[in-house]
Amino acid sequence: MAKQPMLKFVSIERDMPSKRDADQRNKDFNEIYAEFADEKAKEQASRCSQCGVPYCQAHCPLSNNIPDWLRMTASGRLEEAYAISQSTNTFPEICGRICPQDRLCEGNCVIEQSGHGTVTIGSVEKYITDTAWEQGWVKPITPATERDQSVGIIGAGPGGLAAADMLRRAGVQVTVYDRYDRAGGLLTYGIPGFKLEKDIVMRRVEQLEQSGVEFVLNCNVGEDLSFDAIRGKHDAVLIATGVYKTRVLTYPGVTAEGIVRAIDYLTVSNKLSFGDEVPEYEDGSLNAKGKKVVVIGGGDTAMDCLRTAIRQGATSVKCLYRRDRANMPGSQREVQNAEEEGVEFDWLTAPKGFVGEPVTGVMVQKMRLGAPDASGRRAPEVIEGADYVEEADLVIKALGFEPEDLPKLWGVDGLEVTRWGTIRADFQTGQTSLDGVFAVGDIVRGASLVVWAIKDGRDSAEAILDYLNDAKAVAAE
Ligand SMILES: Cc1cc2nc3c(=O)[nH]c(=O)nc-3n(C[C@H](O)[C@H](O)[C@H](O)COP(=O)(O)OP(=O)(O)OC[C@H]3O[C@@H](n4cnc5c(N)ncnc54)[C@H](O)[C@@H]3O)c2cc1C
Ligand code: SF4
Repeated sequence: MAKQPMLKFVSIERDMPSKRDADQRNKDFNEIYAEFADEKAKEQASRCSQCGVPYCQAHCPLSNNIPDWLRMTASGRLEEAYAISQSTNTFPEICGRICPQDRLCEGNCVIEQSGHGTVTIGSVEKYITDTAWEQGWVKPITPATERDQSVGIIGAGPGGLAAADMLRRAGVQVTVYDRYDRAGGLLTYGIPGFKLEKDIVMRRVEQLEQSGVEFVLNCNVGEDLSFDAIRGKHDAVLIATGVYKTRVLTYPGVTAEGIVRAIDYLTVSNKLSFGDEVPEYEDGSLNAKGKKVVVIGGGDTAMDCLRTAIRQGATSVKCLYRRDRANMPGSQREVQNAEEEGVEFDWLTAPKGFVGEPVTGVMVQKMRLGAPDASGRRAPEVIEGADYVEEADLVIKALGFEPEDLPKLWGVDGLEVTRWGTIRADFQTGQTSLDGVFAVGDIVRGASLVVWAIKDGRDSAEAILDYLNDAKAVAAE
């Protein structure tokens, strides 16, 4: 029968000698916590009913073999659980932390469906690979043979890194170019550290470096180095640049000081997590401390801004969203987390302007849900005469991201884009309209999820390998 970890926890607290120093206490805590996690993981894993209809697996974009690694975990065979888990997922400990499991694997767990609460699949996945790292089971890649072909990857986010990993395993020479000073993309500078600790991302980057992947950072392709130069240097190119153009608000007063973009606010907060000195935080322009904060938007980026503002010591944190709770795009779990932390949600509200310079308030109009629009969602409509001003001295615009105009920015003829500005690419292979050029992740899908970027990166790496093999065969003829 499973032990009771909480009881154990309490008994150690009671027995703790008063003269024990802080380091020792931390060590004890970590040991207890590890044991607690071990018990918890086993307990959760053993709840899997091995139902024979693994809806969880079917709803995981990577088709992770969840029942098998749960069974291994339940029986204490963690190294085998790790081997199964990492065979389909390049970064299981990252997905375990930040996948919206309620919409994916866990939301489709048969036990959840029968009303008994899901197996916490994400936590177990995280636990397995965290343990693998602790135990030294995660090793740098050592390809069986080296190939004389190289691939240039533009963008060091999860899509680019997942492809880099797969290509390196096949012995391809890989160079990753990124305009940021650190690799990781939104894992590093978008998703806050309280959801995804930065050392978890950095150890993956280091693992890839130790595996022979070359990183060229602070390199803005299109400015510091041309796309054509990269294409000329490598046998194939993968574009994994994500989407970064913020949707524009045109309301009166929108240019006032104190109205900022979510990506800028979160990047600064993430830089602080690395211990960087950040002037925009020090001078207060991207710091919520002591401020009334209003976040506009209802997606996961908005949730991250809200929860970051709480942690920075804002006096109040409000979210304005034009639809209701049931119709918001963000994860319900995230809303619940934010509420528990003290965020107030003003559903069915939208900005119509801003007051003050610097900003002192948001002019808000009340909304109701009308008939469904072309997308099938009920469209918000303004309730006339119900406007009010919401006080604010920091307003964060979190309205989603769009692709930059890459063909224009990079001066590339023939790189086709869709009407949304995303790169037109085959969803299975990532093949674009240019020979030897592939694309994956958000720049193809539009703003999406880490797990989908990983899936795309892995799939495209396979297609790139086929392409390289074909090129070799032609050269040998
Ligand atoms: C605030 C926020 C929170 C999120 N939270 C979650 C979450 O909890 N769970 C989840 O699954 N998803 C989340 N997402 C979505 C997820 O982060 C993305 O879907 C995922 O990172 C996309 O991966 P990618 O590799 O396509 O692009 P990115 O991660 O965006 O990486 C692209 C990289 O390309 C680089 N780049 C761009 N242009 C150039 C250029 N011209 N030259 C050189 N380099 C360039 C960028 O610097 C960046 O490093 C979140 C997104 C945001 C914005
Ligand atoms: S990768 Fe994401 S969806 Fe798949 S099992 Fe892990 S947490 Fe669930």
